[in-house]
Amino acid sequence: MTFSFLHGSYRTWIVRVTIVLLFLTAHSQKQIEAFGGSGPYDHQVITRLALERYMQEHDVFVNPICEELIAQSAVVSDSSYHSGQDMYHCDNNNIAGCSYKLDELELESRNSATSVEGLQRMGQALHIVQDFYSHSNWVEIMSISMILAPIEEFKDIPPPHDLQTGVYPDPINGNPELGFLCFFNPESNWSHFIPGATHGCLNKDTRRSPRGATLVPLGGGMDYHRLAAEYAIRHSVQKFKEWEVTNGHFQVCLGRPPVALFACNMQKFHL
Ligand SMILES: [Zn+2]
Repeated sequence: MTFSFLHGSYRTWIVRVTIVLLFLTAHSQKQIEAFGGSGPYDHQVITRLALERYMQEHDVFVNPICEELIAQSAVVSDSSYHSGQDMYHCDNNNIAGCSYKLDELELESRNSATSVEGLQRMGQALHIVQDFYSHSNWVEIMSISMILAPIEEFKDIPPPHDLQTGVYPDPINGNPELGFLCFFNPESNWSHFIPGATHGCLNKDTRRSPRGATLVPLGGGMDYHRLAAEYAIRHSVQKFKEWEVTNGHFQVCLGRPPVALFACNMQKFHL
């Protein structure tokens, strides 16, 4: 394929995407928490695995530029400008807040004037979905049932009594002794609400965290980090299935065969 036929607006779009990707890449180096750091299942890996699974299950192709924008944007909430807002990460038991923020980001994505912005909001929405499973005890409650959480509904209906997310950052925990005791709760108690539980105690962002490294009962050797990632992947696939129907900025990323998609659908992007 040569680029001689490319019209001006398409070249403009490529330049804008490149600038955005460079910006997002710079911010993604500042991961501080949440499926970041040592992983191995971080936000980018989870998002790319989810897109791969979505494409296989639905026999559809997602434009690689879209994939890059969404995957990079799934990390950006962990950079400085959103890291202090617990609703972007489902921390501090603000489960209703993260449900509300998820809904808001999905709405902003649909209504975005440009496809670049629309795809960025999608990535940020996925960040919330993925953090929920790592930061809450939903995985400990549901174990290997693989029943996804109705995160979208928690803004309207109270979450289950035993569901919780941890206090973040840990040093501001109002009761350090309770937070410390969380680490000594037996695994049989992990599916229950633990008063004062911190992010450090509950999170499964990495295999280096106490819970992330623990093997899941009847899990065939799987640890909680991998189980949380599997829930996150499945819920991310569910979001792609929804956006395939509801989000015009995602719809123009889809098609087959790949060459035809790249040549034609790019012209449908709103600059
Ligand atoms: Zn996060």
